[in-house]
Amino acid sequence: MTVIGPLSEMARSWGGAIRCVSEDVFNKYAGAGEPSRTHDGQAWITQLNPVKGFYPAPFSTKNLGIFWSRKQVIYTGENMPWPDIVHEAAHVFACKVNPNRSNEWPFLGWEYAMAKYLGGPMTDWFKYMRDYVVDGKRGDTFGDLSPSRRHLLLQERIHAARDLKLVVGDVPQCIR
Ligand SMILES: [Zn+2]
Repeated sequence: MTVIGPLSEMARSWGGAIRCVSEDVFNKYAGAGEPSRTHDGQAWITQLNPVKGFYPAPFSTKNLGIFWSRKQVIYTGENMPWPDIVHEAAHVFACKVNPNRSNEWPFLGWEYAMAKYLGGPMTDWFKYMRDYVVDGKRGDTFGDLSPSRRHLLLQERIHAARDLKLVVGDVPQCIR
């Protein structure tokens, strides 16, 4: 994954890591029992009892999670969507509290800036972000928005991220 290489470099420079591990190692971290399968055949880990400090990504049907204190994103396999890895990286580098206490809305601008900074195909980013619930009263998802509304929203999020110093110019920062 060409996008993940540069992200790993940044993570390292920030005292963290983006780590691809084997299923066995991941299951050890996540405390996974036997995976059951969803109707479409995707593996879905049903029982998780993570080791201390490990946070499995709640909406991921794949193997993805973080060690928040150690600033590590952990994933398995070659097919992990890179926008999902960027999202977890945002939890680690662009948020001062752990995922149980975090508000994701302030760092959406960081994710968007990072996706662009890494030069990832933005069509991928929009595809994998389509279920993201926009922080609003109506609970729209990203995929519900018209392109122009989405554009405005992202501009607003970028400005918010700059105000919070999560992004300087067009460059995502580490705030931990
Ligand atoms: Zn999240």
